[in-house]
Amino acid sequence: MKLLVINAGSSSVKYQLYDMTDESVLAKGLVERIGMDSSILTHKPTGKEEVTEVSEILEHTTAIRKVLDKLIDKECGVLASVDEIQAVGHRVVHGGEVFKGSALVTGEVKSEIRRLFDLAPLHNPPAVLGITAAEKNMPGVPQVVAFDTAFHQTMEEKVFLYPIPKVLYKKHHVRRYGAHGTSHEYVSKVAAEYLDRPLEDLKIITCHIGNGGSLTAVKGGVSMDTSMGLTPLEGLMMGTRSGDLDPAVVTFVMNKEELSLSEVNSMLNKHSGLLAISGSSSDMRDITDGMAEGDPNATLAFEMYEYRLRKYIGSYAAAMDGVDVIVFTAGIGENSAVVREKVCENLTYLGVEVDPELNKIRSGEPRRISTPNSKVEVLVIPTNEELMIARDTYRIVQENQ
Ligand code: ADP
Repeated sequence: MKLLVINAGSSSVKYQLYDMTDESVLAKGLVERIGMDSSILTHKPTGKEEVTEVSEILEHTTAIRKVLDKLIDKECGVLASVDEIQAVGHRVVHGGEVFKGSALVTGEVKSEIRRLFDLAPLHNPPAVLGITAAEKNMPGVPQVVAFDTAFHQTMEEKVFLYPIPKVLYKKHHVRRYGAHGTSHEYVSKVAAEYLDRPLEDLKIITCHIGNGGSLTAVKGGVSMDTSMGLTPLEGLMMGTRSGDLDPAVVTFVMNKEELSLSEVNSMLNKHSGLLAISGSSSDMRDITDGMAEGDPNATLAFEMYEYRLRKYIGSYAAAMDGVDVIVFTAGIGENSAVVREKVCENLTYLGVEVDPELNKIRSGEPRRISTPNSKVEVLVIPTNEELMIARDTYRIVQENQ
């Protein structure tokens, strides 16, 4: 079965075409600047040259039609006909409490996703645009939605509730939902396979650290706790997000600086984190380069980032009463040897021991970086959210045939 995985944003559509007979990627690409006068489509067929096309793409239906045109193009195409695509999988950010796993798209499912707009006003509406656009371009082709929150629906009430008036949960669904669930689930499964141990027996801390970042305590294969909350703002210090802080800081600063809701929201989401402390960049490469050159602001940003990450690892080891495996993934987790080194250097009380040489290797494959003596396995596992969505789509379409 060939299937298309789509990740639709408000002005972008990312896609990957899979052949599920061997889970190979036949082509992938991105449409950017949808709704602007020069939209850019970048298409990369596997084994062939990347092509870029600039045109006017005003909405998602046209964007997906252009993608399908590329997939069947004589030069850069990989399909004889669009009819070869037998299913479409979509990434959706928020599944609320309704979706505990991926689901076949029906009218009711779309209505539920719309009902969740309130909880993810920036992210869920574009996902519906993507679904509608795919339906228009590929009528009758089954579609599946995979939710970033679904994996975390196993959290217990004592974990997901905030200690604030309970009426806010009842009235407005205020609780911890988490994010990056597809990634946390994927890397925890790969970790168990790599170690050749049953997932059910393992206590794993998965560190998905990229521009955004979250940690999950995966116990027996299910999410027990995760660091993002009602929104992706809670938890770790991130590229431009503050992560955890005293909630009173918000009201205090709003009062002192006379900030509006949207201004304070923008401050915490877009102008905080590594960017705020370094004063120069939200990118970990710039931070570690700056630190190597002796820039005190970059050094402070790095130290705060590492310290906060390490505290979370400690708290999840406490939450699970131990940890067997720590997994690093996403942009920083997969690529930044110095972040991994510094975090693990100070986890000696857990018996963590990282081999500095193994830590430096770059491979793009799952690998162990801990020593044979380490009491905790430390792994670097490249995440693959699209593959996870493709697998769910394949399974659900097969089940519903
Ligand atoms: P997103 O959350 O946007 O999906 P990614 O997972 O792609 O983010 O991670 C992006 C981040 O990964 C960048 O901000 C950068 O800090 C970090 N990164 C990428 N490559 C490296 C590298 N070689 N060394 C250190 N950090 C890196």
